[in-house]
Amino acid sequence: MAVRRTSAPLDERSLFSEYPFLPGAEALLGEEAVSVRALLTDAAFASARSLGRARILAAAEDPRGARDLEELARADPTVRLLSFLFARVVLSAAPAPAALRRWAVSEAKRNHARLLVVPPEELSEVARRLRFRFDPTAEGVEVPLVDYLRLSVPIREAEFRLPRQAVRRGSVVVRPARAARLLQEAVRLRLAEPLPLADDVVREVREREAELLTELARRSPAPVARSEFRGGPLRPELFPPCIRKMQRTLQKGENLSHSGRFCLAAFLHRAGADFETIVDAYRGAPDFDESVTRYQVEHITQRDGGAGYEPPECETLRSHGLCARDGDPTADDPRDRARDERCFDPSLRHPLQYYRWRGGTVVERTDRAERPSPTASTEARGRPSTHARSRSTDPR
Ligand code: SF4
Repeated sequence: MAVRRTSAPLDERSLFSEYPFLPGAEALLGEEAVSVRALLTDAAFASARSLGRARILAAAEDPRGARDLEELARADPTVRLLSFLFARVVLSAAPAPAALRRWAVSEAKRNHARLLVVPPEELSEVARRLRFRFDPTAEGVEVPLVDYLRLSVPIREAEFRLPRQAVRRGSVVVRPARAARLLQEAVRLRLAEPLPLADDVVREVREREAELLTELARRSPAPVARSEFRGGPLRPELFPPCIRKMQRTLQKGENLSHSGRFCLAAFLHRAGADFETIVDAYRGAPDFDESVTRYQVEHITQRDGGAGYEPPECETLRSHGLCARDGDPTADDPRDRARDERCFDPSLRHPLQYYRWRGGTVVERTDRAERPSPTASTEARGRPSTHARSRSTDPR
């Protein structure tokens, strides 16, 4: 169990060093006489850049922030701060937003370990600077309802749901450990917003860090199978061309249609992917919203006691322009550019069938009278969905 410290309050400089994401922390760059350009180019900051790149790549591979970065723990506090700022500048200049959003998750999780042990007054100060109210009281931490809802909705654990909270005079009273978890969400929200960089800085970052940005686009976190899934690891290299194209579209920060988003979540669930892996697939969407995505993925995957919705058949995907069997000329990988002959086999009816043919394992539904997907049923009715956005099955 985490033991909470009772140390003296941090001065402004220490606060910024510990929490480099707080508004105003960039001012430390000025104190150290470090300009953004110097941070990008000066030999004196080579170690900060190197550590910043390591932070970026670690987050790209492990957005859950589960692995410790040894170099980070060993680094001098100034190098640590500069590496954080360097990473934030580079990711703010990246052409697609997914990497910044993954990094935001990873850094927020990393920070959570500290927030768990600091005095409630420090939690309150960090929250205040992030524009949330956390008032320490004798019973815990009081959070205004509006702040509580904003921070708790993306959190999946049932104990954060509002009906389970003690609400008093328009505020929710939480234990400090829960306040730390809520604050982790506030940090993620802050870091997921790109820094407003001038066009010439964006150009320079993209030129200087081209190798890193290419590597970042190439790497994506290894998909993780659900703990109860007995089919072994997921094998994305065996996914059918349509699913691979949907994944690439989102990774590039491009829009994917409602039907495509639905199909991807339903497919990944049946292929055994865990909840976080499915949510992560949408981080590049231009309109990505963590809480809406989590709500929608939950809806798609938890239907019928966890069996989930059935992904649409090939014919439906073709009618929605989502079949990619002729090859995707925009893909980097020559295998994705090529026509896939397996998809022209007349007995192929379903993307999951394709995955099985190639050796992938699929969770079988016990309920054989499978319910039609919302996409398929909408199509059968011959009219577009009239679901409100918050109730639609469109993860974003
Ligand atoms: S034929 Fe089916 S499995 Fe192959 S790309 Fe088209 S929709 Fe996907």
